[in-house]
Amino acid sequence: MSREKILVSACLLGVNCKYNGKNNKNEKLINYLKDKEVIPICPEIYGGLQTPRNPAEIIENEVITIDNKNVTLEYIKGAKETLFIAQLFNVKKAILKAKSPSCGNNETYDGTFSKKIVNRPGITAKLLLENGIKVINEEEIFKN
Ligand code: SF4
Repeated sequence: MSREKILVSACLLGVNCKYNGKNNKNEKLINYLKDKEVIPICPEIYGGLQTPRNPAEIIENEVITIDNKNVTLEYIKGAKETLFIAQLFNVKKAILKAKSPSCGNNETYDGTFSKKIVNRPGITAKLLLENGIKVINEEEIFKN
């Protein structure tokens, strides 16, 4: 039987692609993924953004950095490239970083850079969900 294919936010695996040049390495998740076929993705890098980069949040339908630069097009490009990868390998499930403006599956920061959360997916998570891909975050995977 072939192994389950899962898209995973690269920062959760320890790749230093996070906005501050660091990562969100999650050992428990890495252990869980040992017998799965993992496809690491980072939509913000796919969108052409550099690491490190200024943090960004979604404000209405746009993505704006903390120094007021509009990076919506980069975020959309990153989402489309991630969907391309998912469809190329017929992936039906993704485990993505919670609360990220790209990867957050059901919650993201509210656009005020004050750590306030709203119920709204990130740009990439939304596009994957709209295309029938199940998206969960690294916290939900261990619930139930
Ligand atoms: Fe991690 Fe996603 Fe942000 Fe890339 S875009 S650093 S994978 S949360």
